[in-house]
Amino acid sequence: METLKKTVSHQTAAVPVDVPTISIGEIGSDEDKRTAVRIQWFGRSDPSDKDFPDEAQFFFEPTLSTESKRWYGKPDAFKIVFIGPVRDWPKKEVAQQVADTVTEGNLDADVVWMVSSRFPENHPRNGDLIPSSMMTPAVILGDPLFGIIRPKPYCDMQVLEAELTEVRKKVDLAEQLLQNRDMELPPEAFPWNKSRTKCMTCWPLSQSTSQNPTIPVGGTRDDRTYICSGCHRRWWQYNAESHHWRNVTDKDEWDEVRKQSILLDAGFHE
Ligand SMILES: [Zn+2]
Repeated sequence: METLKKTVSHQTAAVPVDVPTISIGEIGSDEDKRTAVRIQWFGRSDPSDKDFPDEAQFFFEPTLSTESKRWYGKPDAFKIVFIGPVRDWPKKEVAQQVADTVTEGNLDADVVWMVSSRFPENHPRNGDLIPSSMMTPAVILGDPLFGIIRPKPYCDMQVLEAELTEVRKKVDLAEQLLQNRDMELPPEAFPWNKSRTKCMTCWPLSQSTSQNPTIPVGGTRDDRTYICSGCHRRWWQYNAESHHWRNVTDKDEWDEVRKQSILLDAGFHE
């Protein structure tokens, strides 16, 4: 007996994906097309309908717009760990907390959890670098035939593990680079110089401009940090395009600057 499935009115993907996948593309019907961040994945109808086309993949929208800073300008660098009702959150004990934060307490609403090793963040408690992580509600699709189309639930904690491994690899690489760099000795190796006396070795850095960049003694024009061998002052090229340098006199700021520049050199950001 031949069964004829009903067709959905929503745009379906021409090329299927193996895991829920984030991309930027067109979304909506012909009259109402716009560019958005979209998640391509299978759907399910609510209430469930045996005629629902299980093989079709739809474009669901997270509630963050393309302009949101939280994407770091690269939504497609994020990978999906979990998609589904909050009550099925991988760690049951925090499900309610997630619901309170993301879906106004509703455990039945769909939530998306995305991570990216491309943009590491500091762990809120121990400060270790970890993949950036976001949770947003998933926008459901209203359908004249099937009522509501929701994304099919998905969970793969290996995605998180893989992104964590990726961050650790980059941190290891950054530490190696640091060890191999003669100029980048640990700050403890140098006393801080806060004297007001101008040092003629490093003072020209403060006069550096895009038209006439100053090259630090023993360094290159593109170095991000520089420690003066004459007076031990620390310098930071805070604007690498305009070649502007600034003297850093605060140890915490220096540690942060140094860490950031090493991560940049290790290829963290494009
Ligand atoms: Zn100096």
